Amino acid sequence: MKHFCLMCGTQLEARIIEDREREFCPGCGWIHYKQYKVSAGVRIEKNGCLLLVQRGIQPWKGNWYMPAGFLEINEEPEDAAVREAFEETGLNVKTHGLAGVYTYNDDPRGNGILFLYDAEIIGGNMQESDETLQIAFLSPDEIIGLEFTGNCGRHQISDWLKTKGIEMDVNHV
Ligand SMILES: [Zn+2]
Repeated sequence: MKHFCLMCGTQLEARIIEDREREFCPGCGWIHYKQYKVSAGVRIEKNGCLLLVQRGIQPWKGNWYMPAGFLEINEEPEDAAVREAFEETGLNVKTHGLAGVYTYNDDPRGNGILFLYDAEIIGGNMQESDETLQIAFLSPDEIIGLEFTGNCGRHQISDWLKTKGIEMDVNHV
């Protein structure tokens, strides 16, 4: 696919810059540095069960994940995690620190990094959104065997299961 410079509109060409192939603008010298998308999410546990959401839209429609989404350009990761939790589940949540940092390389929208926060519910009413099919607290037995949202989702859920002493193969697709 042809790409064009965001600064001057000239067609970009491939060049090796700093040992990597990058898209370079022969018109103005702009270099397209591919960078991670940044997202944040919440890990909410209650009575030994994990809050998961079933995606209602592509990619990974029908698969399960912990509520999460992309950061707005001027947003703190924890604020984004709280906002996304509310948008996707109707729940007001409070974060309690970082549960983990994850990267992913299999999302068709681009590679990214995700900040996952432990959180608890402090209000709201659990309600599906336009983007979610179901929301549920699931036990480890119910979780194992579900389809997750790519390697990042699997990794996060595998790490939570480890806190319960359960090993799950993260490479299972
Ligand atoms: Zn240019």
